[in-house]
Amino acid sequence: AEPIRLDFIREWIATDVANGKHGGEVVTRFPPEPNGYLHIGHAKSICLNFGIAQEFGPKARCHLRFDDTNPTKEETEYVDSIMEDVKWLGFEWGSHLHFASDHFPKLYAFAEQLIEKGLAFVCDLTPEEMRTFRGTLTDPGKPSPGRDRSAEENLDLFRRMKAGEFADGTRTLRAKIDMGHANLNMRDPVFYRILRAHHHRTGDAWCVYPMYDFAHPLSDAIEGVTHSICTLEFEDHRPLYEWLIENVDGLPSHPVQREFARLNLTSTVMSKRKLLRLVKEGYVSGWDDPRMPTLSGIRRRGYPAASMRQFSKSIGVTKFNAMTDFHVLENAVREELNKTSLRRIAVLRPLKLVLTNYPEDQVEFVEVPNNPEAPETGTRQVPLSRELFIERDDFAEEPPKGWRRFTAGAEVRLTNAFCVSLTEIIKNEAGEVVELRATYDDATRHGAQPVGRPKVKAAVHWVSAAHAVSAPVRLYDHLFALEHPDAAEGEFTDHLNPTSLEMLTETKLEPALADALPGQQFQFIRLGYFIADSRESIKGLPVFNRTVNLR
Ligand code: ATP
Ligand code: MG
Ligand code: MG
Repeated sequence: AEPIRLDFIREWIATDVANGKHGGEVVTRFPPEPNGYLHIGHAKSICLNFGIAQEFGPKARCHLRFDDTNPTKEETEYVDSIMEDVKWLGFEWGSHLHFASDHFPKLYAFAEQLIEKGLAFVCDLTPEEMRTFRGTLTDPGKPSPGRDRSAEENLDLFRRMKAGEFADGTRTLRAKIDMGHANLNMRDPVFYRILRAHHHRTGDAWCVYPMYDFAHPLSDAIEGVTHSICTLEFEDHRPLYEWLIENVDGLPSHPVQREFARLNLTSTVMSKRKLLRLVKEGYVSGWDDPRMPTLSGIRRRGYPAASMRQFSKSIGVTKFNAMTDFHVLENAVREELNKTSLRRIAVLRPLKLVLTNYPEDQVEFVEVPNNPEAPETGTRQVPLSRELFIERDDFAEEPPKGWRRFTAGAEVRLTNAFCVSLTEIIKNEAGEVVELRATYDDATRHGAQPVGRPKVKAAVHWVSAAHAVSAPVRLYDHLFALEHPDAAEGEFTDHLNPTSLEMLTETKLEPALADALPGQQFQFIRLGYFIADSRESIKGLPVFNRTVNLR
């Protein structure tokens, strides 16, 4: 096994284990709210929490908990997609699938307990009043008029809240902590609100719902979580987390919260609110559009799960927010695909090349390795004939300095075949180049380099025109044209990359690609890594997505 890399979170946990804290148990959780699809940022948290459970031995485990306390935004579709994504990343929760909503009865009982202890009260302030009463960083807040109610009266009101006697938003249950506290989160925070909304699991059973800050620490404790790892924005909430764990009696565990820096990536956005807008407003084809930073999007794009785990490991866990360059992720993807994907030949923007000294009706087959990085994948036979297609980009009428591919008078090597010399450039009436003609040199087959012959430096890929198949190929680029769309002026949608999707339909592919199965991945030599789209490919009629170009 690989040695455990001790970032500050793992060091904290290892110290607790060494000291026998929490009875030597390590219980973490990944707590998504089912209000959208998971994104690459979530993968960091999943790899951290589930990774720790794997690394710390038999007394360690990680729960998947849906933080479903916000019924208006949550849906079963999201629950299902989240489970699929966590499994895809290679992790399992075993018997520990939990929902905060499963804890509603216990959470409610804890709220009553706090009321009885004089630590919570029913407040009648409107949201606006509550905001003014709260004060600011420099001014202390004002106590709510309800703060001095007796425990009995509060209990009665809270039960009537639950029974549905009051209208939505008219009352809240609040902690009684300190309206002068330096941390605004400690100024009598709201624990429960009245809300008539259909919940995806509990239906209409409840009309009071706990707030995140109340439900989260207590759900951790109910499930026996020991180490509650969240992102830095929650550092300011930690005193409230600790207040609840300290003041509620009868908790099965005393979890401790620590915070790490969230993952931020260039050229994309990673807030579910913004991703939802991209979907709802039709900027993308759905949550799994291959340009989306969602796990379902990158899966369809062809990013392997192993590369996501490797990426998470390589960026590490720190306490400082930073921006990670998207290229770091792309490199992890390339590294993985270089090892695993079969090589194939594809011409995406074809230009005809006729070998005028090659016999008209001859076809030969050249043997080509399936993956030079993995010789055990063998070779295949690729047809070669008089009429070929090459990439239009491999020809330049007016070549830039140092050009080594096709241009007037140049000699070029055709990959795995022989050298050819360009003899003629044929144009249509509009002056566009429509065909190249060349002669081939039989003495240069199989990379042969006859003595005294100038060395041909560039090799260009090709497909046989008569044998080529065609399939749509979609070239994807960054979704945003700016590195930091979140920080830019105006709406983030103003900065979408207008060329993030380019659709090629006139492609010419080697015949073997016609058999690509949905989800199968390839390196198209010299071009990049491609995947047969899992949704739109059918057997014999693949549609390819570019996963990432070559470096
Ligand atoms: P978003 O801000 O995208 O809406 P969220 O934090 O509200 O995300 P949750 O469903 O609450 O989404 O997140 C589940 C877990 O994933 C939380 O523990 C959260 O801290 C973590 N998480 C979310 N985004 C990131 C990120 N960019 N990097 C690391 N962890 C993240
Ligand atoms: Mg959230
Ligand atoms: Mg959020």
